[in-house]
Amino acid sequence: MLVNKEIRCFRLREVALNVDEEETLLASRVAEYLQIAVEQIQGLHVVRQGIDARRKGRVLRVYTVEFLTDDASVLLRCENDPRLICVVDAPAAIEIQRTTQPKTVVVVGMGPAGLFAALTLAQAGHQVCLVERGKPVEQRVVDVESFWNGGALQHNSNVQFGEGGAGTFSDGKLTTRIKHPLTRRILQTLVDFGAPEQILVQAKPHIGTDRLRQVLIRFRRELQQLGVELRYESCLTGLDRQNGVLTTARINDRDELPCAALVLAVGHSARDTYAMLDEQGVRLEAKPFAIGVRIEHPAALINRIQFGHSNHPRLPTADYALTFNDRQSGRGIYSFCMCPGGQVVQSSSESEMVVVNGMSDYCRAGSLSNSALVVSVRPEDFADDTPLAGVRFQQHWERQAFLAGGGDYRPPAQNLMAFLGRKKGGQLVSSCRPGVRSAELTQTLPDFVSDGLKQALPHFERKMRGFITTEATLIGVETRTSAPLRIVRDGHGQSVNCPGLYPAGEGAGYAGGIMSAALDGMQIALTIHGQE
Ligand SMILES: Cc1cc2nc3c(=O)[nH]c(=O)nc-3n(C[C@H](O)[C@H](O)[C@H](O)COP(=O)(O)OP(=O)(O)OC[C@H]3O[C@@H](n4cnc5c(N)ncnc54)[C@H](O)[C@@H]3O)c2cc1C
Repeated sequence: MLVNKEIRCFRLREVALNVDEEETLLASRVAEYLQIAVEQIQGLHVVRQGIDARRKGRVLRVYTVEFLTDDASVLLRCENDPRLICVVDAPAAIEIQRTTQPKTVVVVGMGPAGLFAALTLAQAGHQVCLVERGKPVEQRVVDVESFWNGGALQHNSNVQFGEGGAGTFSDGKLTTRIKHPLTRRILQTLVDFGAPEQILVQAKPHIGTDRLRQVLIRFRRELQQLGVELRYESCLTGLDRQNGVLTTARINDRDELPCAALVLAVGHSARDTYAMLDEQGVRLEAKPFAIGVRIEHPAALINRIQFGHSNHPRLPTADYALTFNDRQSGRGIYSFCMCPGGQVVQSSSESEMVVVNGMSDYCRAGSLSNSALVVSVRPEDFADDTPLAGVRFQQHWERQAFLAGGGDYRPPAQNLMAFLGRKKGGQLVSSCRPGVRSAELTQTLPDFVSDGLKQALPHFERKMRGFITTEATLIGVETRTSAPLRIVRDGHGQSVNCPGLYPAGEGAGYAGGIMSAALDGMQIALTIHGQE
């Protein structure tokens, strides 16, 4: 045993436990691997945790751990063991310096992009007014529940609009491929506001809609304590400019908010706002996205396919990610926004249009699991080459879904086997409220989408034996996978032809998902603050 008497911190990846083994075994597993005495390991803690289900018969829980030891052989081993590193100093957290020249900034939209932009600007000492067309989350939940129980659709208080933004009624998945030091700060902020600590170590963190609603209330209080003015039921309806530079935000066609900068974080469903920007000559461009359907299976079936267990106390509800590239059409067909043990949600925000998405609670304990199955769409598929053509494309198919569903906001649905032309009829089992209505889904989708799905499904079956089953139901349509256009901005995040306007988040076409929208909002705020 080589002792150098200097205690160092090490990080070891891929430490595996069988599903039935206790985490207390981690230290001895590490000692075994490093061939040192377990007593030599101190302060072991988990920094990352995931599931390895590549071998169905032997699903593993896989950890990255950090620990202290003064055994010199471990330091030597770092040189040629890619799983092991010596942790010198954790990167310093990004500090936001307070400004000496506060700016008046209007932030539009209380989704992740707007919330994190407002928080960052307020922490930096700027004067922030945060406006939202919808209502506080408590009232919003009441309006959405009423709609799901057959009540009227509220145009400004629904699954897309209101405090928390589009992600409030979601699985609250916090995964992102972006590697940026600020993502840690975003996760830590959510934990400070009550999100489960596990999101700091999980390989695939999620909050769940139930916990997210509580987090939003603490987020609101923090903003109020930092002096942010919050305006609900306040819709940005216009922009005033002097010599081309933005000077004032117009709210509800009535109130005026003078500002030095405006962060426009309105999400991908603010179609009236897109139309206003287009009318006012703000540069927009159509962009690709994807559309398709939601597929719903019994959660136990997906667990069995993925883990070999229908229900195991030590395993989470199983998820999946499927992709297929159709060489012929050059289109991608893939699963998207998977919600294990969740629900399909009716997510309309416009009259006589039906669109679906998915959500889960933190525990993901529902009896059904769902995800979107979507096909990539490109501007050439739109009726014309104007910036809003993609919006009209979405509206067309959402309208078809409304009609096919019977015109009362029930989404159209079809048994998977019937969609594939393998079996007539078949049961429709769905968690979607207010319920679904049997329909021929090819009537609600462009042919290239129906064909793409029919092309890809057998490939998905080969990857997940049992995916194609009479127990699966398809529900239409999923059209809001990302923004149908981009609000074109320059390298500093400012609109290319409206100085003072800072498009941010998913609606601007530069982010997709909760984490990347929050990160984009924060970066735009730091740009306005002058701390890039
Ligand atoms: C049902 C559902 C489930 C989802 N699940 C997940 C998930 O699990 N994980 C994930 O990463 N992503 C998920 N997403 C996507 C995610 O929610 C979005 O990517 C993210 O919320 C985008 O953040 P944002 O701040 O850019 O915009 P949004 O969250 O859309 O927020 C925009 C806000 O602006 C407001 N607004 C719009 N127009 C105006 C105006 N003119 N004036 C004032 N306010 C306005 C809206 O009311 C809204 O509150 C889901 C989306 C939905 C709809």
